Amino acid sequence: MPEKRIVLSVDVERDISKYIDESYIGVKEGIPQLLEILADLKIRSNFFLTGNVCRKHPAIMKEILGQGHNIGCHGSEHKVQYYSSKTREWQEENISKAKKQISTVLGKAPKAFRAPNFSVNSDTIRVLESQDIRLDSSILPGRVVKKWRLMKLLDFREAPREPYRPSREDPTKPGDSNVVEIPVTENPLHPGIPIGSGTLNYFGKEEFLDAIREVRQSYVVLLFHPWELVDLGRHFPDLPDWVSKACKSNFRTLGICLEELLSNYQYCVLEDIQEEFLATDK
Ligand SMILES: [Zn+2]
Repeated sequence: MPEKRIVLSVDVERDISKYIDESYIGVKEGIPQLLEILADLKIRSNFFLTGNVCRKHPAIMKEILGQGHNIGCHGSEHKVQYYSSKTREWQEENISKAKKQISTVLGKAPKAFRAPNFSVNSDTIRVLESQDIRLDSSILPGRVVKKWRLMKLLDFREAPREPYRPSREDPTKPGDSNVVEIPVTENPLHPGIPIGSGTLNYFGKEEFLDAIREVRQSYVVLLFHPWELVDLGRHFPDLPDWVSKACKSNFRTLGICLEELLSNYQYCVLEDIQEEFLATDK
């Protein structure tokens, strides 16, 4: 089996928007400590920023860029649960606004995108093309989300696991759009969820490393959230148990895990994978 590479990706957004109204503890306290570990280990990562976080915490965003990490767009706000439930016009407006918010603060427009809650649809792919964003990492193969019992909000069970050009009609199928989709890696030990800071806190170090070892692809895209890097339950005692368990300030263990990965694998950024894909894609 060819050697796998590791991509560490972070969705920089307000604290778990499904349960908490407007709070940025993860961004303020979690991101600076994560940046320190990444600098120590010389790991370059992908940070997907929401536009409103850029407006509210410009200094931390500049620090991310200043340390040489790659910047992507994670929409304007994180209030919306599913992009796929919105019209194409709404998505166009939201992504265009986010691009402006990010470039106003960083002087640089993002060229990569990740939708909140992996919620891309065919309209999103068309909007990305029109917004000159050619790299998307919003698909989590294996993920299926249903509303009530039957209506599917998204269904990525059949989506490819290696990079592909998504179809303009259905982003889970290969097609001929100008976008390269680099899927987030499904956790082989827990189908339908990613591997990242939340699973490290929730399942522990051994299972986190085992999950990465079990991945049968050429790369592993890890998914981190700032709010998973702080003791969120201490600030918000009414959170569901699983959220408190997944959100812990546990930087020592995190540092040990990232260092252990460094001794077994190479790290890269999504743009490296995009470039290699384009070099072989006819
Ligand atoms: Zn998000």
